[in-house]
Amino acid sequence: MEFAKRMDKLGTENSFEVLAQVTKLKEEGKNIINFGVGEPDFDTPLNIKKAGIRAIEENKTHYGPPAGIPDFRREVAKYVSKTREIDVCADEVLITSGVKPMIFYVMHALIEEGDEVVYPNPGYPGYESIINFVGGKSIPLPLLEEKKFSFDINDLKKAVTAKTKMIVINSPENPTGSILSQEDLEEIAEIAIKKNIWVLSDEIYGRIMYSGQFKSISSIPGMKERTIILDGFSKIYAMTGWRLGYGVMVKDLAEQVIRLQINVDTCSATFTQYAGIEAYRGLQDTTYEMLKEYRERRDLIVKGLNDINGISCLVPEGAFYVFPNVTKVCKSLGLQDCRELQRLILQKADVAVLPRTSFGVKNIGEKEEYLRLSYAISKENIIEGLVRIKNLLENNI
Ligand code: PLP
Repeated sequence: MEFAKRMDKLGTENSFEVLAQVTKLKEEGKNIINFGVGEPDFDTPLNIKKAGIRAIEENKTHYGPPAGIPDFRREVAKYVSKTREIDVCADEVLITSGVKPMIFYVMHALIEEGDEVVYPNPGYPGYESIINFVGGKSIPLPLLEEKKFSFDINDLKKAVTAKTKMIVINSPENPTGSILSQEDLEEIAEIAIKKNIWVLSDEIYGRIMYSGQFKSISSIPGMKERTIILDGFSKIYAMTGWRLGYGVMVKDLAEQVIRLQINVDTCSATFTQYAGIEAYRGLQDTTYEMLKEYRERRDLIVKGLNDINGISCLVPEGAFYVFPNVTKVCKSLGLQDCRELQRLILQKADVAVLPRTSFGVKNIGEKEEYLRLSYAISKENIIEGLVRIKNLLENNI
């Protein structure tokens, strides 16, 4: 069969390959501990579920405006204005079926063939895939363990050229759990303003932070008009399957994105947006409970990993991922890289983790090996998974 040439440029999330292996092993009757999935194990809070059900019962099941229900757009504008300390109006808010489609839309609206886009590496694989798909040139910005998985300003300066159209940032970050400091954000802002560059700021984990106050680059003077804020309901409200997110951007760009929305999905599910209104207006207690539990799990998993010979793990400050360095383990076991280690752990210990390579190819000169473990699973499973990994690795070294 012949497919359109552009399909060659589209990447995939190869975390889904590991998840397919997990499904197969489970079907074979294996009891797999799964640190692979990047989604909360919690259920959507009851008040939000009820609001969605109520909306269906009230027949809020028809087409809605492509940019989103006005009431919801206003609510999001209020929320973003408050949390980012900027003035956002409803016209600048576009509702989408999750954050993911907005990455696709914004890149289609802004990136020309040959434009360069700087993105974090290791990072969420969706960025690189879409940059390439729209004909842009993807320029990785290395995140370095010695900088707590932030970037080196010299690397950023080297990455930015006269062709740079956009810088993608993600803080707190998937897969490292790192946070960009105010200083980091100011450095990026200075370059973006000086060189007239857009910033796509993926803030989906903005409320899953364990220390300090969340900072958005859009709050820095001169940045709101060149930042596209991405945020959504999948993570903090455990609403992955509802498919609900949004982008905030200047009106001129929003108008272009609406044209894409009209052509692709007409609108996001109407009743889901009513659930979103409740998520923002209702009590936030359940989100605090989830956050408390994530923090305890984070401490448990970091300690457990550091107790395994040959593994060292920084304490991440946000999101629900850890990104341990496994270079020594790979060497001791004679493994070529973290992919071989991931396969070994899955086959011999029945534990699923993701290799660093699921989050981009290694940067030039990068010698270390890493895994990503999601701790959006129960404490019992975290303990059991770590015991299995420890037994496997320490008995084989
Ligand atoms: N951005 C990042 C950094 C993510 O980790 C994810 C999901 O894992 C997404 C975006 C997509 O989220 P959504 O479910 O809102 O499409």
